[in-house]
Amino acid sequence: MPKCTICSNKIEELFLEKLNGTIVKKPNSNKHYPVCFDCQKKFRTKEELLSKIS
Ligand SMILES: [Zn+2]
Repeated sequence: MPKCTICSNKIEELFLEKLNGTIVKKPNSNKHYPVCFDCQKKFRTKEELLSKIS
């Protein structure tokens, strides 16, 4: 089960392997960062999410 990059909570997988959250892609990187639904709600823009991840 994937963990949230920001808060380390486990992210529930919904049916069809869809995550209850989102995947953030860093610019200039192939890395993907899973983010849970709660953090997605807290940090609404991609810029905010990226600043929490890096
Ligand atoms: Zn989180």
